[in-house]
Amino acid sequence: MHTDENDPHGLKRRGMLFVLSSPSGAGKSTIARKLLADEPDLEMSVSATTRPMRPGEVDGRDYHFVDLEEFRRMVAEDDFLEWAHVFDNRYGTPRAPVEAMLAAGKDVLFDIDWQGAQQLFQIAGGDVVRVFIFPPSMTELRARLDRRGTDAPGVIDARMARAANEVSHWDGYDYVLVNDDVEACFRGVKTILAAERLKRSRQTGLIGFIRHLSKEGTGK
Ligand code: 5GP
Repeated sequence: MHTDENDPHGLKRRGMLFVLSSPSGAGKSTIARKLLADEPDLEMSVSATTRPMRPGEVDGRDYHFVDLEEFRRMVAEDDFLEWAHVFDNRYGTPRAPVEAMLAAGKDVLFDIDWQGAQQLFQIAGGDVVRVFIFPPSMTELRARLDRRGTDAPGVIDARMARAANEVSHWDGYDYVLVNDDVEACFRGVKTILAAERLKRSRQTGLIGFIRHLSKEGTGK
């Protein structure tokens, strides 16, 4: 639990599950990176995946890259909070690090798809903040994937089909933003995080704090 910086009177806050989803190429990873650099109380959940590593990716930082056998073993041992098939690969959220981050009073950022968002929502009894980032257009999304140059053309076609499917699940989210300007979108996501942190339902120690205030008020 962390004490809120604008409250010196013992108000504390429960850690929060914060999901960012978008079709790949919509700028979500850039925004996640900026958020993590800017928010010391926010930590990333690093997923495990069976997909091959892309150039520039680092094992343990971007993903835990595992083979199918290892992934199956993790599923069998209930190591995942949630997992899903995305494209031809499997992706899962390891349970233990998330529990450790919450226990340390951190908020946890998840870069997972709509299936993962749905599963987390169920596991956490609805106590999840779900944010969806739209690309400005499908044409721009295709151009970004082409520019990124990390996927073969056939793979990009598959990603575009998948993107259309991902976008169709926008109504399973609490917040939606369009990423036509990374800075503006980043500020939007930061505002959501700040507002969610101040929600009454996330504060603990509230009753004690109110008692303290009313004692002060009446001079008793
Ligand atoms: P990419 O292969 O482009 O890194 O990710 C493909 C998709 O898989 C993205 O939409 C990403 O959000 C999603 N994804 C990554 N990790 C997980 C995970 O642990 N669980 C689920 N359900 N989706 C994930």
